[in-house]
Amino acid sequence: MSRFERPNIQAMQGYSFGEQPDDSRTIKLNTNENPYPPSPAVQQALQGVDISRLRIYPQATADPLRNLLAELHGLTPDHIVVTNGGDEALRLALTTFVAPGQVFGMAEPSYSLYPVLAEIQDASICRVALKENWNYPDTFCQQLNNAGAQLTCVVNPHAPSGTLLPASALADMAAQLNGLLLIDEAYADFVDPELEYDCSSLLQAHDNVLILRTFSKGYSLAGLRLGYLLGHPDLILPILNKTRDSYNVDLISQTLGQAAVNDLAYAQNTWAQVREHRQLLQNNLAQLGLPSPDTQSNFILATVPPALPVTAEEIYLQLKANGILVRYFSMPGLQDKLRITVGKPEENQALLENLAAILNRD
Ligand SMILES: *Cc1c(COP(=O)(O)O)cnc(C)c1O
Repeated sequence: MSRFERPNIQAMQGYSFGEQPDDSRTIKLNTNENPYPPSPAVQQALQGVDISRLRIYPQATADPLRNLLAELHGLTPDHIVVTNGGDEALRLALTTFVAPGQVFGMAEPSYSLYPVLAEIQDASICRVALKENWNYPDTFCQQLNNAGAQLTCVVNPHAPSGTLLPASALADMAAQLNGLLLIDEAYADFVDPELEYDCSSLLQAHDNVLILRTFSKGYSLAGLRLGYLLGHPDLILPILNKTRDSYNVDLISQTLGQAAVNDLAYAQNTWAQVREHRQLLQNNLAQLGLPSPDTQSNFILATVPPALPVTAEEIYLQLKANGILVRYFSMPGLQDKLRITVGKPEENQALLENLAAILNRD
């Protein structure tokens, strides 16, 4: 460790990544990627990139893509800033709105990157525990207000449980919180359209709301690094003009992002497939004795009850030895659970067959 490292950087642990094997034989159900490839229109757009254009800088604020996204969400472009993945959007929200020593708020458990980014910013963290059934405690906002939270991140649908709060509950939070509310909608594309979940109208009524979206999950573009924030123009402007890297989104990402949005129907079809197979997988896991809460995401949080002959960690390890990756979190409240990304039908089938063999062994 170098004596030049800032004390808060010395003291912190980094983010622990899900495993990313580079062989194509592994069945990868551990990091919530969309199991289907991106739209063929994205492939075409990539082939159409003129590399001589890489000589010059990209459009600094990704305006053509911003305009498209504005149309998609029924907002004006000044409500949008495009970022290098959703993770950069989170970092920018912290950099812009939370000074070192100020308080960052979050539910526990939720996305494990939040505390890492808060520690980098040298912010204090107020963690409010969720209830056993993943509901938010009635005193959620009160606890955050008492702690003086400047910015609170709420992931919805929730990770790692997949459960969904209705937009009305988020409107209540926005009204109650003294600080900013960032609604992390990394998985919102997978919500059943019949639920009519849509938080973008909150942006008109509340000047303290930011919404995060990403191309990583819904558009099958995790390898590209493209995301964006929606918010009141007064919240977006300092990010757009001050805290963002001057060219934070490269030409290729801007181009492929536009192609993906222009072929929305393709992505929507993958979301429908994920929803269909999510339901099947959830039912089949329950039949194997592994129940899970209702999920509106592209993953399932299955519980391994103590009555079963193997623990969640043992199942995780045995699956891994068989070439199937799921996510195991060795932390309080999650030690008896496995987070399983919904895969293609044949991947889900392989998982179920392996699980049946593991559970019936002894
Ligand atoms: C995937 C994810 C993000 C953003 O990921 P990027 O790949 O950086 O866009 C944000 N929040 C949660 C909870 C996620 O799972």
